[in-house]
Amino acid sequence: MAKELPATAKAVVIGGGIVGCSTAYHLAKLGWTDTVLLERKKLTSGTTFHAAGLVGQLRSNANITELLGYSVDLYNRLEEETGLATGWKMNGGLRLACNDSRWEEVKRQATTAQSFGLEMQLLSPSEARDLWPIMSVEDVVGAAFLPTDGQANPSDITQALAKGARMAGASIFEDTNVTDIRVKNGKIKGIQTDKGFIECEIVVCCAGQWTRQFAGRFGVNVPLVPVQHQYLITEFIKDLPRNIPTLRDPDRLTYYKEEVGGLVMGGYEPNPILWAEDGIPEDFHFSLLQSDFDHFEPMMELALGRVPALETAGIKELVNGPESFTPDGNFILGEAPELKNFFVGAGFNAFGIASGGGAGMVVAEWVAKGEPPYDIWAADIRRFGKPHFDNDWIKKRTVEAYGKHYSMAWPHEEHKSGRPFRTSPLYEKLKAAGACFGEKLGWERPNWIADIEAGEVPEETYSFGRQNWIDAVAGICRPDRSDVIREISPDRARCCGGA
Ligand SMILES: Cc1cc2nc3c(=O)[nH]c(=O)nc-3n(C[C@H](O)[C@H](O)[C@H](O)COP(=O)(O)OP(=O)(O)OC[C@H]3O[C@@H](n4cnc5c(N)ncnc54)[C@H](O)[C@@H]3O)c2cc1C
Repeated sequence: MAKELPATAKAVVIGGGIVGCSTAYHLAKLGWTDTVLLERKKLTSGTTFHAAGLVGQLRSNANITELLGYSVDLYNRLEEETGLATGWKMNGGLRLACNDSRWEEVKRQATTAQSFGLEMQLLSPSEARDLWPIMSVEDVVGAAFLPTDGQANPSDITQALAKGARMAGASIFEDTNVTDIRVKNGKIKGIQTDKGFIECEIVVCCAGQWTRQFAGRFGVNVPLVPVQHQYLITEFIKDLPRNIPTLRDPDRLTYYKEEVGGLVMGGYEPNPILWAEDGIPEDFHFSLLQSDFDHFEPMMELALGRVPALETAGIKELVNGPESFTPDGNFILGEAPELKNFFVGAGFNAFGIASGGGAGMVVAEWVAKGEPPYDIWAADIRRFGKPHFDNDWIKKRTVEAYGKHYSMAWPHEEHKSGRPFRTSPLYEKLKAAGACFGEKLGWERPNWIADIEAGEVPEETYSFGRQNWIDAVAGICRPDRSDVIREISPDRARCCGGA
């Protein structure tokens, strides 16, 4: 006989993808055994079942990297703990650099990684080729190798998390659609499902691409949009070692992993295609989208230059699945500022399998202890504000962020799309005076003023070294500082170069 829904729960988790299962697992481990997870169809039937399964840890934000490192620690022990196979293989991850700037970025990342204990080795092109013998390295300047990266079977690892959650005391109900949240005087009273009502005060919404629409009904803004993402699966490739590391080739926008003797190859095209802009079809579960070979062709061209064997490899399938992407490429965690006790874990930008373990841990701690275990502002739902409710802005900015998935992460880089969004009455005057604008919470703010009379262009040229705004900013600061110092001490002003 099917188990009946309980009348009450301490926390209800909505969504049985990797993030919901991981959140329930961690809540139960924290002693919140009265946690209930509800999945409208079957576990993994949303986006999780069709992920490629690469688990990388390196991100430009150190705290996100720490969260990803936690996932790896968890995946290392999950199979033994639950007795369920996870497909986890710690075969390492290679990241290629094909120009000097990228190499500089990789070296900087290696320094950051080491500062928080993540091993990352720098390799020459031929050392990288020793690890990945079927690739061409003609254009490679150097590579990074992360020995603790790996790959997993997304469905299996999710089922293992679900089992671990049950073993720790949580309850999981499939085929149970959450249809409403009862809120009274700004407080959550319970959730309504198609199988009955559960009284509860805390809801954790891990509903993947369904999250924006669902949360929006209760005034909660979760800025994400489903975007089509594709990867190719090849037939068996001769001479492909089974223990080959995962490979990321950001200058060619592509990634790879070994799968049953063939390759999985996916990419982040600069012109992504949004999906379900008018709402997700009701019966969308264990579903894929139509393969779009024309759209994938530029990725294939780039990949052929790296892996010539793809020219003759048989193609099994071109998987096209929708995934939630966000305007800044980071996921969305934490308590919604609009509704107390409504927590979110969504918007995983095609690294939800890699993040799932850590994201579930962070959200569970946030729920149970009132705060995340460490600074996770880069993924905090509160980083978004009023302007980010706007659907049009979210779509434009998300398309830009998707296209930048593998682009260089320059210091102080500004987004270009959806601007200007909010301007002050001084905007036009500042623009005419040569202002180069940056954006904060939708507001255009002058970062620096170019000397347009001298032919200077108010545009930033990004670099890890001295950037082109330094002289303009110094030009403004220097006289001011000298003036102030002159006021205080005429002698010091001379030392500092003041007149
Ligand atoms: C083609 C492709 C390749 C990818 N490759 C990788 C990869 O290599 N590595 C990686 O880390 N990530 C990858 N990803 C991303 C990864 O698949 C996702 O980030 C991850 O699966 C998101 O998990 P989730 O739990 O947030 O969402 P989902 O798996 O979508 O789970 C959300 C669940 O919520 C349920 N739900 C929604 N509304 C309700 C409701 N009202 N009531 C009850 N249940 C509800 C849904 O049915 C669904 O099962 C890839 C994605 C795609 C599309």
